[in-house]
Amino acid sequence: MKVLVPVKRVLDYNVKPRVKADGSGVDLANVKMSMNPFDEIAVEEAIRLKEKGAVTEIVVVSIGEPKAQDTLRTALAMGADRAILVTSDTKVEPLGVAKLLAKIVEEEQPQLVILGKQAIDDDNNQTGQMLAGLLGWGQGTFASKVELAADSVTVTREVDGGLETDTFRLPAIVTTDLRLNEPRYASLPNIMKAKSKPLATKTAADFGIDVTPRLTVVSVAEPAKRMAGVKVADVDELVNRLKSMGIAK
Ligand code: AMP
Repeated sequence: MKVLVPVKRVLDYNVKPRVKADGSGVDLANVKMSMNPFDEIAVEEAIRLKEKGAVTEIVVVSIGEPKAQDTLRTALAMGADRAILVTSDTKVEPLGVAKLLAKIVEEEQPQLVILGKQAIDDDNNQTGQMLAGLLGWGQGTFASKVELAADSVTVTREVDGGLETDTFRLPAIVTTDLRLNEPRYASLPNIMKAKSKPLATKTAADFGIDVTPRLTVVSVAEPAKRMAGVKVADVDELVNRLKSMGIAK
């Protein structure tokens, strides 16, 4: 069984984002970029399914700048078999990504696509759901456990009231939540080996998909600075202060 894992190159989660001086977006010049953490979890899950013998091939795909190649090499070093890089000059929004992924699914015929639940740059949480809609496939989002059978997948999801478990037919879409697994680090020998694993490069235009952005960013601003806190002596003082602020009666 073949599994497709889309991975996005994003601002590293340890880096504090800086807003560009003109307020047009986040400054990505000279900052550390890494694989979206939820996508690392998706790659790890695909590798674990392969180690269990349920999966035979893992194909990773990234859409973006040519530098997304580094992200794909990281996934190959973790244990993916093959990579596809789709380059685009413009930023590709979730619908464009989902349309390109749908074309790749048509070509590659995977039985399972495991995506991150969201990319931590724009926090859209849309691509997996849109891909499932475009393909007409079942989807299990926010997976904290994935069990694969020959013709079905069972996904445990963390919902407000506890855990929900759904089983649906393959082919299917799964999106990963934080508690699904802890991704492995690539070892040095595997990083070296990954350099010779196959990586195909295509452009968005090769798929005949129009990825022109449909959204306009009006402005990006830093969150308001938090005001300094005040230490109160006791509960009475706290209540009085809350009353004076109109928060308590
Ligand atoms: P989003 O809907 O943007 O929050 O992204 C959800 C998931 O879709 C990510 O965790 C990735 O698995 C996948 N994805 C989104 N954008 C891309 C991209 N440009 N290239 C590859 N995968 C992507």
